[in-house]
Amino acid sequence: MAYKHIIDNDRCKGCGLCVTICPKNVLEMSEDVNSMGYFPAHQARPDDCIFCTTCCIMCPDVAITITKVVEETEASEQ
Ligand code: SF4
Ligand code: SF4
Repeated sequence: MAYKHIIDNDRCKGCGLCVTICPKNVLEMSEDVNSMGYFPAHQARPDDCIFCTTCCIMCPDVAITITKVVEETEASEQ
């Protein structure tokens, strides 16, 4: 099963909670400001993500979502 990790840049207020809490050190703060003037979090090392959802749960602004990706072989079987 594959998953996709998405951070909504424009919801992120740059608090850094997700960066601190990630057990795999996947996230970092961006050097570019978003539309609200904050430096948002981004996945600096996406290959290390284990999709544990801790960052989603911690984010006070619900800026992070993890979605299940339906793979082509699965989709074609349905
Ligand atoms: S899902 Fe888990 S491993 Fe992936 S970025 Fe969030 S806290 Fe880190
Ligand atoms: S916890 Fe949410 S608001 Fe805070 S830096 Fe991470 S994504 Fe942005």
